[in-house]
Amino acid sequence: MKKDIHPDYKVCTISCACGNEFQTKSNVESLRIDICSSCHPFFTGEQKLVDAAGRVEKFKNKYNMAK
Ligand SMILES: [Zn+2]
Repeated sequence: MKKDIHPDYKVCTISCACGNEFQTKSNVESLRIDICSSCHPFFTGEQKLVDAAGRVEKFKNKYNMAK
C-alpha cells in the first residue's frame, strides 16, 4: 500500500520583487516572484509597470514550472 504518493504540501512564503509577501500552500517552502496581485496593474488598476506584459508571461512560466 502506497500512502505517500501525494506531495507534502506545506505553507509556502511567496516573496515578490515589490516587497510584498504572502503565504499559500505549496510543495516548496518559499518562492520568489517578480510580480504579484498587489503590484500587477491588472489588479491595482495602475500602469506603473510598463513591461508588465512580458513579466506576466515569466510569472506564469514560473508557476507552471513550480508544479
Ligand atoms: Zn508584487
